[in-house]
Amino acid sequence: MFVKGRYILEVRALPTGTSEADYLITKELFESFDNEDIKAANVECKVQIDKSEQLIYLSLLFEGVITVECDRCLDNLDIKISHNDSLYLKFSNGEEQTDENVIAINEKENVFDLSQLLYESVLVNKPLRCVHGEVGEGECNKAMIEMLGRQEQMNEEMEEIDPRWAALKKIK
Ligand SMILES: [Zn+2]
Repeated sequence: MFVKGRYILEVRALPTGTSEADYLITKELFESFDNEDIKAANVECKVQIDKSEQLIYLSLLFEGVITVECDRCLDNLDIKISHNDSLYLKFSNGEEQTDENVIAINEKENVFDLSQLLYESVLVNKPLRCVHGEVGEGECNKAMIEMLGRQEQMNEEMEEIDPRWAALKKIK
């Protein structure tokens, strides 16, 4: 079952061997990191877990939709999220070095908070350029595009009127 708002893995209570956990990623997760770019989110994250004595392997499958602002018309734009991620958690006394795919957790710890991990995984897999028709469905807001076009034209006309503008722009 996907439960929203709680991204805790009970590492101590997990059974040895394989198990599963489900998380529902919502807008609140992004808000908790002061990220206002994500207007809405409904992403299911299914986690396959394999626990041995010292290591916990996590295989995460993300499926869902996030809503962001279109980079061109600024209207909301729904983007499909569908990707995999994986990592190891390692019980440690804090002395040994680990590599980047292994997160060390204190062996006295009962829980591990997945918030940061889920947050970053969704953001890293979000397209760099989010524009209607290029990613996601729908079309750009026509009125906005027209307005932006007019503004650009005005800027060009300004440059023609005052050549210092053009010179200034080149410096930037
Ligand atoms: Zn758009």
